[in-house]
Amino acid sequence: MPNHRVAGQLVPDAVANHVALELCNTRAGWRGDAPREYLVSYDALAVWAGDVGLLTPREVRALRTEARSHPRSAAHAVEAAIALREAWYDVCTAPWEERPFPAAGLAELHGFVADATAVSGLRPSGDGAVRLDGGRVPSAGLLLPVHRAALAAYDMLATGEVAHAGRCAGHGCGWTFYDPAHRRHWCIMAICGNRAKARAFAERRRASA
Ligand SMILES: [Zn+2]
Repeated sequence: MPNHRVAGQLVPDAVANHVALELCNTRAGWRGDAPREYLVSYDALAVWAGDVGLLTPREVRALRTEARSHPRSAAHAVEAAIALREAWYDVCTAPWEERPFPAAGLAELHGFVADATAVSGLRPSGDGAVRLDGGRVPSAGLLLPVHRAALAAYDMLATGEVAHAGRCAGHGCGWTFYDPAHRRHWCIMAICGNRAKARAFAERRRASA
């Protein structure tokens, strides 16, 4: 799947149009046989979080430095980010799949939101709202990107925007995106759309042969 390099780290292209859904896209191939993990290290997590706007550049630098001195806590934070992502994926794709929100996923998400809330202050967001900030580097430590992502996910649930979370129709893709018009089929037309067209073409040829 499409990606780019930032500060030496490979990060997925941000195509979701919603920061909470970008978390889902740190794994590629949700329904495929060869999933690809982007959260392969603390550096990768911090740089990704900076790339999608969950951390400021200054926070990314401070956290990467901190991670080098605390490798075990850093590894734990990466595990937490992945656990949050798995629970959130199950929750945020529920409306699209027309199933009820999973109780286990909501309970797990609540744990992440509670941890984030515990270290949060209230900060004006610049859009007229004041929100929980997930903490700062000194209070949240290496879990700061996980807290910010959990609060973004909660925000998407609380506003009802999750009703407009779509999932790519590409074979094995599973990437998510925010699509209030409910018209989007592909994470990226030029990739998953064209692959689907090529598959359909090959199937037609096989059928007519
Ligand atoms: Zn796709």
